[in-house]
Amino acid sequence: MRADPVQRAIDEDLVRVLYAQNPIAFFTHWFAIAVLVSIYWVDMPYPHLFAACFGFYAVANFAALGLWLCRRRWPNAMTARNWIRLHALRGVLLYSAPGLAIWFAFHSRQADLPVLHTVMLVTLAAGVFMSNGFDLLNFSTGIIFVLLPAIVLLFGSHNFDRTILAIVLAFFFCAINVYAISYRKLFQRVVQARVDQQQLAESLAEQKHVAEEASLAKTRFFAAASHDLRQPLHAIGLLAASLNDVAVTQAQHGKTAAHIVHNVEALNQLFNQVLDLARLESGVTQVIRLHFRLDELFERVGSQYRPQAAAKGLALRIAPTTMVVHDDPVLLERVLSNLLSNAVRYTEEGAIWVGLRRGGRRDGGYIEVRDSGIGIPAVEQERIFEEFYQVANPQRDACQGHGLGLPTVRRLVELLGGELRLRSAPGRGSVFRFPVRVGDPGGIVTSLSDTVVTGPSAQGRRVLCIDDDPSILEGLTRLLGRWGCIVRGARDETLALQALSEGFVPDAVLCDFQLANHRTGAQALTAVREALRRSGHEGAVMLLITGDMASGELATLAAQGIPVLHKPVTPARLRRTLEILWQQAERDGAAGNLATASCPLPASR
Ligand code: ADP
Repeated sequence: MRADPVQRAIDEDLVRVLYAQNPIAFFTHWFAIAVLVSIYWVDMPYPHLFAACFGFYAVANFAALGLWLCRRRWPNAMTARNWIRLHALRGVLLYSAPGLAIWFAFHSRQADLPVLHTVMLVTLAAGVFMSNGFDLLNFSTGIIFVLLPAIVLLFGSHNFDRTILAIVLAFFFCAINVYAISYRKLFQRVVQARVDQQQLAESLAEQKHVAEEASLAKTRFFAAASHDLRQPLHAIGLLAASLNDVAVTQAQHGKTAAHIVHNVEALNQLFNQVLDLARLESGVTQVIRLHFRLDELFERVGSQYRPQAAAKGLALRIAPTTMVVHDDPVLLERVLSNLLSNAVRYTEEGAIWVGLRRGGRRDGGYIEVRDSGIGIPAVEQERIFEEFYQVANPQRDACQGHGLGLPTVRRLVELLGGELRLRSAPGRGSVFRFPVRVGDPGGIVTSLSDTVVTGPSAQGRRVLCIDDDPSILEGLTRLLGRWGCIVRGARDETLALQALSEGFVPDAVLCDFQLANHRTGAQALTAVREALRRSGHEGAVMLLITGDMASGELATLAAQGIPVLHKPVTPARLRRTLEILWQQAERDGAAGNLATASCPLPASR
């Protein structure tokens, strides 16, 4: 049996062609009745039986016409398959009378009647082939009644001429069946091709629709992004211009500088949110699952938002839990941070609740963030997951966010293999919920609080920076210098190797991903690591810094656990990453390591 849609299409086409022939068949059968009655008229054997037989033939012909009318009037009264079956039944009734009536020819005194009747039957058989040949059921039921009685009776007459006629008729019966097989195959191939073409057209239309939707979404995304990026840039431009004004006092300069810093931070925050999303979409975000205590994560996020909640007079309640989960603590922290930040922002009174619900699951539970805030109308509950969509911020005031939090949260939860659920009603608060997996207390290797302890100092550390952009190299060298590091800058891999050969042994190597002459940071880091290994210095930590989102190589690096920072990198982020890497390198006994897969690096993802 074929795949359902194709079989259905074949059946529907079959019904159409089978029934389309019926009006012509009606007249053909009246013609057959007229011819047969006239050839038997001179010597009609068993007149009553003959009248009953041909009366039945006439009634069957009217019944066939009735069936045709019903199908025209109520085409959906039954399935296509059932219309086909009914048509086959019609064939049995219609063809049995002329087929079996050849018996009268053998009981007539007219010697040529069997031959004349056979000629009539062959004509009818051609009609069966033409109008029912596409369907096995209709063809076989029709052709058997038309030809088989004649073949049997001709053979049984023990007359040479009639036996020859029986043989010819039997051959005709076989041949017509063979032709009908290829006729059916051809018909099925034609329908199959039509269905394929139709499906192709439908899928193309669907793909076109998806592509248009994606293009529209991107246009909306860029329109909103460019507006939100222009605002702080515009402000920075104006403020920077005022720095040149000689009439401005020192105090006003200080104020302007503070405004510039504020706008740069806003810009940076927006960039980071956009890049977070882009990273999630490009698949370079690593999921590193650890066994950890959920209450440590709750406490960590809670402590960040408790002051903001308290400032608005809100209670932030964290339900105690002893559950150990097996999930990515860094990504979960980002999910919870976004949800809590929204809960605080959109709640004016009452409380915010964070906790775990088992929800009847043995292998995990659901983290819930509830608030008693303004709630979200049902019509907005899907749109709020679109990038840059905000329910009520027509002025696009940056202080009220950018509409990127929930799209990021949804993708993060999906990346972790779950689904984000929302329950909310205007004025009745909101509940966001997503699943977590249960972990193994024996598998806990680090406490989440470990990663927030102050790392080893940067003072006196030797750092090798590789970047082909002189201004970035200059900025990086100065920044690291201010932290007390001893820095060597190199514009490419060759200069970096030269620094090593001159005896510079780094504690850290920072490398840009896209270097000049089509070299990549990954290649440069490999060369540096190899050179260090040869000279017996393997303790340096390595870090890639990139503005590249989609490179397949980046995805590979991410999969290998090589720490990658995405531009723009804030000084705090860089320092924190370096400290964590040094901390881990020291813990690992300063073994030469590039593999940091076990380190939950907040900055790298
Ligand atoms: P934003 O940075 O603007 O908060 P989000 O993507 O996080 O962007 O949220 C999109 C919109 O969803 C917000 O503008 C807000 O209207 C609505 N929203 C999100 N969380 C809540 C909540 N807890 N209560 C009410 N509305 C919310």
